[in-house]
Formats: sequence, structure tokens, C-alpha cells
Amino acid sequence: MATKKEVSIADKLKSLYQLQLVDSEIDKIHVLKGELPAEVSDLEDEVAGLETRINKIKDAISEIEQQVSRHQGNIADSNALIERYLEQLKQVKNNREFDALNKEIEYQKLEIQLSEKKIREATGQIEIKQASLDTAEEKRDKRLNNLEVKQKELKEIIKKTEKEETQLLKESEKARKQIDERLMRAYDKIRKSYRNGLAVVTIKRDACGGCYNLVPPQLQIEVGLAKKIIVCENCGRILVDEDLLQTEE
Ligand SMILES: [Zn+2]
Repeated sequence: MATKKEVSIADKLKSLYQLQLVDSEIDKIHVLKGELPAEVSDLEDEVAGLETRINKIKDAISEIEQQVSRHQGNIADSNALIERYLEQLKQVKNNREFDALNKEIEYQKLEIQLSEKKIREATGQIEIKQASLDTAEEKRDKRLNNLEVKQKELKEIIKKTEKEETQLLKESEKARKQIDERLMRAYDKIRKSYRNGLAVVTIKRDACGGCYNLVPPQLQIEVGLAKKIIVCENCGRILVDEDLLQTEE
């Protein structure tokens, strides 16, 4: 294309190697943070889950408490009725009225017993729920403590490295723009497949700087010529000549 200036393979490799150096510095910062970001987010998720659970249990308890107070209200009503019937008993005129009132009193007494039974059951349920509430709250408090410690640790690392990381990310982004998409995809793919994130390496003492296997002399010559992109026969990393970076822009 007319607008796109031809970039030599040597320049491409140089840009790629520079990008690798920047990305490796970023990787170092990530190593420093280690598992902390993941641990913090796991703990945050766990705490949120426990909060949901705690609220659900609290809702269930208050529902049962409402039932208890309804039963207590029923008992009070029954007691009031019984008192009234007892008053009426004093003025009964015949056996039929006497029997009817006693029947009503018996009925209200049964109602009271039923309510009392329900209250006992509900109280038992509340105790069970309260126990699991205590457990959940204890667990949440422990996780919160842990979270606070990890957050503090992470914050300190971020404070120390933030400026540097922002700068490096900017440099990385800038460098990526100078490299064509196909090469960038290959670079990213190789980087992702190795724990140390090295995709571009130099040859050191006749060996690949990534896997330390010997690089055949013919291949070393080709790497030095930088006429095409050469990868390590063993690990597939892109090989560059160390002198490449020293050459002037
Ligand atoms: Zn290799």
C-alpha cells in the first residue's frame, strides 16, 4: 500500500524486542502483586455471598418472630374471652347456658394450648436459625479481616508500582501500534503459552534465551542477518540478535 511505509524485518524485530522488554517489566510488577488481586476479589465475592446469606436468615427469623407475636395476640384474645365467660357463668340461668359457656371456655383453652405449641415450635426454629446466623456472621467477620489485610498489602504494592506500571503500559501500547497485526498475534500467543511471558529472546552462549536449548550455527547466522523472522526450533520463541538493539535507529 502506498501510504504504508515498508518496514524492514530488522526494524520489526527491534520493535518486537523492545516491546518484550517493556512487557517483561510489566510482568515483574504482576509477579510482585502475585495472587493478591485474585485473592482480594475471591474474598470480596465470598463476603458478598455471606452477606446475602445473613440477610436471608435475618428475614426468616423476623418472619417467625411475627408469627410468634400473632400467636401471643391470639392467646391474649382467648384469655380475655375466658375472663368474660367466667363473668357470665356467675349469672347463668340454666344448665344449657352453663354447659355452653363451659364448652366455650374449654375451646379457648385448647386454642391457647395450640398457640403455645406453635410458639414453642417457632422458638425452636429461631434458635436453629440464630445458630446458623452466628456461624455465618463469624465466618464473614473472619473473611472481612483477611480481606482488609490483603487489600492493604495490595494497596501498598500498587502505590509503589502504579506510576511505573502506567508508564510501562503506555509504552507497551505505543510499541504494539508499530508492529503489524499478524506478528502481534504470534507474539501474544507465544507469550501466553509460557509462564515467564517470554516470546522474544536473544541467543546466549549459542543457546535459546527461552528454553536454553542449543541453536544450530546456521540458524544463528540467519538470526544475525535479520532478513526473516526465525523461531527457536525447540520452543517456538522468536529469536533476535542481541546486537540488534544496539544498532542505531
Ligand atoms: Zn527455545
